[in-house]
Amino acid sequence: MEAAESSRLQRVALRAAGLVAAMATACALALGASAPARAAATIVIVNLNAPGEGFNDPTPAAPVGGNTGTTLGQQRLNAFQAAADIWGATLTSSVPIRIGASFVPLACTATSAVLGSAGANEIWSDFPNAPRPATWYPGALASKLAGEDITSTPGAPHINARFNSRLGLFPDCLPGSGFYLGLDNNFGSQIDLVTVLLHEFAHGLGFQTFTDDATGAEIQGMPSIWDYYLLNNRTGKLWVEMTDAERAASAVTWRGLSWNGPIVTAAVPQVLAPASNLAIGGAAAGTAAGNYPVGDASFGPPLSNPPVAGQLMPVVDQADGTGLACAPLSAPNALAVHGNIALVDRGTCGFVTKALNVQAAGALGMVVADNQPGDVAGMSGNDPTITIPSVRITQADGATLKAALQRRSRTQSGVVASLGLDTTHLAGADSAGRILMYTPTTLSPGSSVSHYTTEAKPDQLMEPAINSDLTHQVTPPRDLTFPLLRDLGW
Ligand SMILES: [Zn+2]
Repeated sequence: MEAAESSRLQRVALRAAGLVAAMATACALALGASAPARAAATIVIVNLNAPGEGFNDPTPAAPVGGNTGTTLGQQRLNAFQAAADIWGATLTSSVPIRIGASFVPLACTATSAVLGSAGANEIWSDFPNAPRPATWYPGALASKLAGEDITSTPGAPHINARFNSRLGLFPDCLPGSGFYLGLDNNFGSQIDLVTVLLHEFAHGLGFQTFTDDATGAEIQGMPSIWDYYLLNNRTGKLWVEMTDAERAASAVTWRGLSWNGPIVTAAVPQVLAPASNLAIGGAAAGTAAGNYPVGDASFGPPLSNPPVAGQLMPVVDQADGTGLACAPLSAPNALAVHGNIALVDRGTCGFVTKALNVQAAGALGMVVADNQPGDVAGMSGNDPTITIPSVRITQADGATLKAALQRRSRTQSGVVASLGLDTTHLAGADSAGRILMYTPTTLSPGSSVSHYTTEAKPDQLMEPAINSDLTHQVTPPRDLTFPLLRDLGW
């Protein structure tokens, strides 16, 4: 951190926020390009790599997915330019946006990797035309708002971005899962670089708080423009109105923080779909009756209405009374789940294996209870032969349902489970229709607070993980990234 330039115009140099990606989980950074984009904003990518490295890597490459570069370095630059062009066509600024970019070795293992990291190079307060006094803005946005280049050093990047040059190319760095350098989103089993760039670019443009998400401390006692829109949806307090301790607590309150910006909230109904829901009823449900939050599965049909309903019946195939369904079901278990909804436990094998086993036994649907405490989460995996819907519930909710199933016959429980949609509730939104932010109960530094919830449906570009259903769109009706930047002042 550096001292203020003057009493009124304040600047702080920031380290880029690092983002860790595990397998399909990615958090990367944003970059610009060396050629100007034709659009409402010009984005310049400043190539920071040394000769022969990164963007200058001379390794020959075959054209792929509309990327006509003939070397690895050239294809990387072309992908950057494509992402820059998308943002350039979306944003408006009279000041060219410079992104300092490099491909360098970053942390990785055989099963996880940092895809990249990006963020504002400098943040500024009290620049000419600043909408709010004593408030931090990222350099690119400050320049747009000021109508002049707000930078400490002429030509310095507004955004810094680094990407992992070894990804997928070495046995110790997610082998086989390298960046897809095509421009057509046809990434197959690879990681779509343009999507990652769009995500990281958004961080650098301002999709991040500069306030410490662990301690709640502001930089030099001043809030980020971001903090005016972060709302504790239980207390009605904004981050700018909270103490450090209140901010830190809200950052780890699952479903506790919403984005209160008017442009995002107005767009939410056209972007987010109705939430998936597990409804429990029936004569024997007792106090377990009601609606349960669920995580969706990436396999099988998505939930829809009318719901798929049946008696909820547990699989029991372990000595401790749990049911893993990792092997073909025994005759008693098959009898129990046939024509019913199977309740199984997470663990030992993948979700797809469990679904295939209960489906083979004739189950109409599957409910997976988590095997450890935590927030609601989704289920990954893929198998086109799965035709029944599946959802995941928390361990605590699983215990509630199992208690209600204590008294049951071999074929009936009197507890009816319905897998459908809650049309009064949008996936990833709070009860007032505001999108939720990512606030897992275990803080994920740099990811918590500065991303959208993982519960959004369809998946959003600015979730902490890169999902395979993302497009290159950053605007409604598909995506809520640009509306948030507009709330900030773009
Ligand atoms: Zn991110």
